[in-house]
Amino acid sequence: MNVAYDPLYLFIGGDWISAEGRATAAVVNPATACEIGRVPLASADDLDHALEVAQVSFEQWRQTVPDQRAKILKRAADLILERAPRIAEQMTLEEGKPLGESLDEVTRAAEYFEWFAESARRIDGRVVPANRPGVLQLVKRQAIGPVAAFTPWNFPAITPARKLSAALAAGCSVILKPGEESPATALALARALDDAGLPKGVLQVVFGVPDQVSSQLIASPIIRKVTFTGSVPIGRLLSARAAEGVKPITLELGGHGPVLVFDDADIEKAAIEGVANRFRGTGQVCISSTRFLIQRGVYERFVERFVTATLALNIGDGLTPGTQVGPLANPRQLAKMQALVADAVAKGARVLAGGKRLACSGYFFEPTVLVDVPMNARVMQEEPFGPIAVLMPFDHMADGLKEANRLPYGLSAYAFTSSARTAMEVADGLEAGMIGINQYRIVATELPFGGIKESGHGSEGGIEGIEHYLTHKFISQI
Ligand code: NAD
Repeated sequence: MNVAYDPLYLFIGGDWISAEGRATAAVVNPATACEIGRVPLASADDLDHALEVAQVSFEQWRQTVPDQRAKILKRAADLILERAPRIAEQMTLEEGKPLGESLDEVTRAAEYFEWFAESARRIDGRVVPANRPGVLQLVKRQAIGPVAAFTPWNFPAITPARKLSAALAAGCSVILKPGEESPATALALARALDDAGLPKGVLQVVFGVPDQVSSQLIASPIIRKVTFTGSVPIGRLLSARAAEGVKPITLELGGHGPVLVFDDADIEKAAIEGVANRFRGTGQVCISSTRFLIQRGVYERFVERFVTATLALNIGDGLTPGTQVGPLANPRQLAKMQALVADAVAKGARVLAGGKRLACSGYFFEPTVLVDVPMNARVMQEEPFGPIAVLMPFDHMADGLKEANRLPYGLSAYAFTSSARTAMEVADGLEAGMIGINQYRIVATELPFGGIKESGHGSEGGIEGIEHYLTHKFISQI
């Protein structure tokens, strides 16, 4: 399938600014390792300009009536849906995931704009009865101010969509810095918002050297709120920067998703859907299932089903029909998978499927299943963020829960059982912000997406999703 890659821009002050005369970075198709475009990098002056515009546009946008904000977001959702096939192709070209996954992601990104369009109309306050006669006490919720949003390369549509939809609904202006490795998708969302009538300057999209962009934006007194999705170390760094200016930050960081499969579970479903979940997005999914903890009585059966299904997966270019697993997004990811498998094997793990890169120029790594992995292996401590599944047995619920909660992550966790009582107990005991019982597909627009422990804080989506773009102000009047 031959697909042309869209030209790339900065989007500042309502202007689409081309790469001409600016520093650029290569965008590479991970399926071929070939350059497909160059993304313009914002200079310090560009960022200053974006900040000034964000300040001015915030004052106008926060005064725009909710109905108008809602209509623009709804129109943008419709445009994203209309353009979904084209946006999905761009995503697969730059990120590598199979076209069907890209299309699904774009559709779900549109749903966030639709959901938060309605939230714009429901930012109400309250009247609090006073304990003194003749006093009127009001609590108002107001847009917090210009937002700096940082999103990664792995979900180039849905991650910006979660942030933009809620922040714009609240009345905030936003400067978005998407991942430089998959810029076209985020620009397509911005184009839809622009075409839907979002006033110029309310949204700006910049690319650059990530550390320079985040330090300049977060340090600016214009920015009143920071939101970041990415790795724990960068989340920690941006958190410290935000703290300097006493700015709230929402963090959606990594995970190491445990799956507890009990003896009484539907083993076939837990294994087959587990393979689909683990290798979706080539494993580069923060809420992915990574450690499969299987109760001993069904361990052998689960391993057999899981390995068979893994070996049957079709690896290839995401644009080729029938591909189930695409390449990794970049060479860093490839090197990391090789190092994690080599380390685990050196320490005694056995590879039951995959374990190596494909012999071609793209960044392909075989879907990999490891068993007998010792606790001191890196993959038992670090988020692999790639196509590696670890399978291990447990005896009692307490042992399974202990292992599931062992790591500092707390993003997603899953359990499979036919007992309602086990389901309740395990859901109660799992330390994670998002829990799937007898299913892996847990994310929905109407639910709060977010983690606990080192996986971050704050939720995106659901009625919670707009809260961190709002401040509370009370007015006491006599
Ligand atoms: P990284 O932490 O360098 O980059 C992750 C994202 O953060 C990128 O899009 C990057 O542009 C951005 N970023 C990096 N430094 C930044 C800075 N100083 N200021 C602002 N933004 C910055 O990691 P990577 O090599 O791209 O990926 C490594 C690991 O990060 C993965 O293995 C995974 O554990 C984690 N990760 C998590 C998510 C997620 O959805 N939670 C997404 C991407 C990466």
